[in-house]
Parts: sequence; C-alpha cells; structure tokens
Amino acid sequence: MSAELLSYAEAQAVVGSYVRGLARVDRSVERLSLAMASGRVLAKAIIADQDQPPFARSTRDGFACRAQEASSHTDLKIAGTTRAGETLPGPLPPGAAWEIMTGAPVPEHADAVVMIEHVLRNGDHVQLAASRTIQAGENIVAQGAQARAGDALIPVGTLLGAAQIALAATCGYAQIEAYTRPRVAILTTGDELVPVDQEPAPGQIRNSNAPMLAALVAAAGAEPRVLLTAADTAEALDAALGEAIGADMLLISGGVSAGKFDLVEPALARIAATFHFTGVRMQPGKPLVFGDVPRPDSPALPFFGLPGNPISSAATFQLFGTRVLAALSGNLESTPRFLAARLAQPTDRKAKPGLTRFLPGLCEFNFQDGGLPRVTTIPWHGSGDLPAFARSNCFVVVPENVGSLDEGMTVRILMI
Ligand code: AMP
Ligand code: MG
Repeated sequence: MSAELLSYAEAQAVVGSYVRGLARVDRSVERLSLAMASGRVLAKAIIADQDQPPFARSTRDGFACRAQEASSHTDLKIAGTTRAGETLPGPLPPGAAWEIMTGAPVPEHADAVVMIEHVLRNGDHVQLAASRTIQAGENIVAQGAQARAGDALIPVGTLLGAAQIALAATCGYAQIEAYTRPRVAILTTGDELVPVDQEPAPGQIRNSNAPMLAALVAAAGAEPRVLLTAADTAEALDAALGEAIGADMLLISGGVSAGKFDLVEPALARIAATFHFTGVRMQPGKPLVFGDVPRPDSPALPFFGLPGNPISSAATFQLFGTRVLAALSGNLESTPRFLAARLAQPTDRKAKPGLTRFLPGLCEFNFQDGGLPRVTTIPWHGSGDLPAFARSNCFVVVPENVGSLDEGMTVRILMI
C-alpha cells in the first residue's frame, strides 16, 4: 500500500479525474421551496417563463420621449404619467413626452427616457435642458434584452446562491428541484480521544476533529453524520467501517500515518478498498489517503483518510474533500478558490523545498500595497496548534519548488 508520494498537483489531478467519473452517477432529486434553496445544487434547469424584462422598462425617473424630438430642445407636452406596476401606457403622441417612473413600462413610440434632473419643466410641458443631449435607447432596457421566454437561464449543476434564487423567483419558481445532500460519515480514530463533554485523563485529549469536520461538511452543503470514535484496534475499525458503508462519502481522521497503531489502511484493504493515493508531498497533510470502497448495490463509497492533526485534517478536506463532495452533490465544477495576496513578512527561511506547504495566515482586505489583500502567516507549533488555527482565516500556499517566500511577494491563499 505504501506507494510513492504524489505531488500536490498530481494528487489534485487524480481527484479531478475521479470527480469527472462521478458525472455518470445517478443522484436522487428533491423538490424544495425557494426559501430552502440556498447552497443547494440545481437538478432541473430554470427556464425563463417570459421575456426579461417582460416589457421595455425605464431605468430612471423622468420623461419618455422620441430622442430626436427631445434633442431639438423644444417644449414637449406631457401626455400622461406611468408608475411602476401600471399597465402598458401610450402610445406616445407626436411632439409629446410621458412622465415615467423607474421600473415602469415605456409607452409605444418612445425610444428614450430623459432623467428628471435633465429637463426644464414649465406647467404641462418639458424641455431637454440646453446642456444635455439624449440618444435613442438611453435609460430603457428593451423587452427581452436580458433573456427570451424559453431560454434556459440556470443550468443543471449550478450551486444556488442569492443571485440564482432571485432569478428563479423572477421566473415564477416557488419551488425548485435540487439534488439531495450527500450524507457524509465522519469516523474519528484514536485511543487518546474523549468526547467534548468529558474530562480528559492524563495522556488523553478531547476529540476536536469530529465537530470540526462536521462543521466543514455542513459548510460544504452536505449532511454530516458523526460516528462513534473507533479505538486503535482492527476490530474497532472493522466495526466502524461497517457502520459507515451506507453513507455517500466517508471521512476518517487519524490512523493513516506510519505509526504502529495506524491501522486504518489495513482495515480499508480488508473491505477491498481501491487506493487512488496514499500520501501527498504536502505539509500539513502528507499521509493523506484517497480511495473508494466497492459496494454491490450502489456506487463505490469514496473516502478520505485524513491525518489526525486538526490543521492537517482541515486543510486536506478543504483542498481535496470538498471537490468530491461537491461532485456528489451534482456540482462537478468545484475546485478550491485561491486568491492572490501580498505577503507582509517572509516565511520561515529554514524550510526546504520539496513539499507544497499550506501555512495558516491572516488576510486583511484593506487593499493597500498596490490593490492586493495583505496576508501575514501566523506563528504556529505545527499542525496540532488549534489556537493558532483559530486566529487564522486562510492558508498561504508555499509552492513545492521553493523553501520560503519573501516579504512583498504576491502569493496564493485559500480562504477558510
Ligand atoms: P494520527 O493521525 O492518528 O497519528 O494523529 C495525529 C495527531 O492528531 C495526534 O497527536 C492525535 O492525538 C491527534 N488527533 C487525532 N485525531 C484527533 C481528533 N479527532 N481530534 C483532535 N486531535 C486528534
Ligand atoms: Mg491516531
């Protein structure tokens, strides 16, 4: 099982091709009210039921007119008034203007709207101010300019956020069809772990990965199911894997390093797991394991064996696990979103090249230093340092081919 370690990029390529393979998997679908749709993945396209906008719409408070007539700066008679919500007015008589509010339909024969601030009003007449010009089309969005009735506006597989929900509402969707949320079994392993509500005896620690991974899974739009912690014995792991096998994805924390009680890989091998990789040249997260377990009546169960140190677990899940989870949710396009930032201090000069490193950092979005966010790395005592992790809001990426990064460099960061 112990194979050559992949580079970070190679490991991402393996996950990428696995994700493409998930395109063929059948996913179940449920109907949801629009109020519950945020963060879900669309299973049936949203179709425009009408043109958007459904009528030529004024974008200003002002006067609808013929641009050519208004441009002569002569008096135009105010032929009527239309507010947003009123039915289509008009037609606009020759030599006239029509008072109109933002969002209201533009009368027939009008081809521009002059802003109210740009006219001189004299009783029931208006005139374009001498200092102003107006062109046909100004301040009007033509019927159907944004979309035509029947257009597929949001494709299957789109992650729904506020903008997509607003568009679905505009098209009359009180309910949408979304893929069901994947259920993610979370199995923490380790003889030293006690639950959060217990006092650790000497040598024991509280299990922080279970709630952390549950939070990460929920944030990724899936349903976490935390299993009972497994002791570092073959029997305990076999039993726990039996519990996990019905899930859509499995996260195992701990027990994947090279220690005497790191028994997770042999336990997975006993249930005929395929290992896609068993280590990555990255820090934290080097012992990361990725594979899947065949099942007779359902698609293979993808799993990640996450190194037990909390920051390793979090980083590897964010970098790799979220991609598989998104694909299981029906969103095949998801990749980690790296941003550019300016590094405020050099990183550790003693570090050697050879591993892609992800250092906890604090990024400030005050856009100094040439318009980039500014990031500092947080001093930390290795990948178990939760107090340092809790002060950070991102990982700073140190590429594999360099040991350290210099102050002022543009670096890649991953927000967490
Ligand atoms: P392991 O990957 O099992 O060798 O664990 C590496 C380190 O992470 C050890 O110091 C463990 O005590 C710690 N660790 C493992 N699992 C957890 C967990 N669920 N919560 C907090 N720390 C853990
Ligand atoms: Mg362990």
